[in-house]
Amino acid sequence: MNYILLGPPGAGKGTQAKKIVEKFKIVHLSTGDMFREAKKSDPSIAALMEAGKLIPDEIVVNMVKNRLKKDDVKNGFLLDGFPRTLKQAKELDKSLKTENIKIDGVFSIIIDNEEAVKRISGRRVCKCGASFHIKFVPPKDADKCDYCGGQLTQRADDKEEVVRERLSVYDKQTKPLIDYYKNSGLLIDIDGLQNEKIVFEQISKFIENGR
Ligand code: AMP
Repeated sequence: MNYILLGPPGAGKGTQAKKIVEKFKIVHLSTGDMFREAKKSDPSIAALMEAGKLIPDEIVVNMVKNRLKKDDVKNGFLLDGFPRTLKQAKELDKSLKTENIKIDGVFSIIIDNEEAVKRISGRRVCKCGASFHIKFVPPKDADKCDYCGGQLTQRADDKEEVVRERLSVYDKQTKPLIDYYKNSGLLIDIDGLQNEKIVFEQISKFIENGR
């Protein structure tokens, strides 16, 4: 059971990914999470991320290729935030072939750019992993996490001007992947403007039906 989650920043990929991997007991492979860890010790990665730019293909592809060699992915995985360019998608195909791994489906979560800006620029996160939204999912006490009491902060790349840059990068570099996976018969469109529970139910149904 191997899937890819595709969608612009703010589509809810992270939220859906957490629920999917928990329900279907598969591994969550989030390149964004891997780079958030890597940026702590690598200022060049931090600078690219904070400007809303992509990390060079070669670095990302090598990281994912090595990850796909580990045993835990054999029971199924969900790629979240990768691939993000045509080059990455083609390199992924090569490496899946070598490892004899098949992708069952690519979920493309669709939202418009204005909705994405609204959702992301209001997002506040806690070190414990919890995520809030100042309007849509406000914490009980402003700036404090409901779960651990920690201080909520805004991710540097969630500031509005950086979000707009990330969306423009998505339109130019990642959107072409929609046609790429449509042509390979793997694409499953999901309306990301629906309630997150409905989005999850729809994705779950496809997975349960072996798609
Ligand atoms: P995300 O949490 O998926 O939005 O990723 C956060 C940031 O990590 C992105 O804005 C990029 O700077 C970097 N990143 C994550 N995945 C990739 C990827 N597949 N290719 C290039 N950069 C990536």
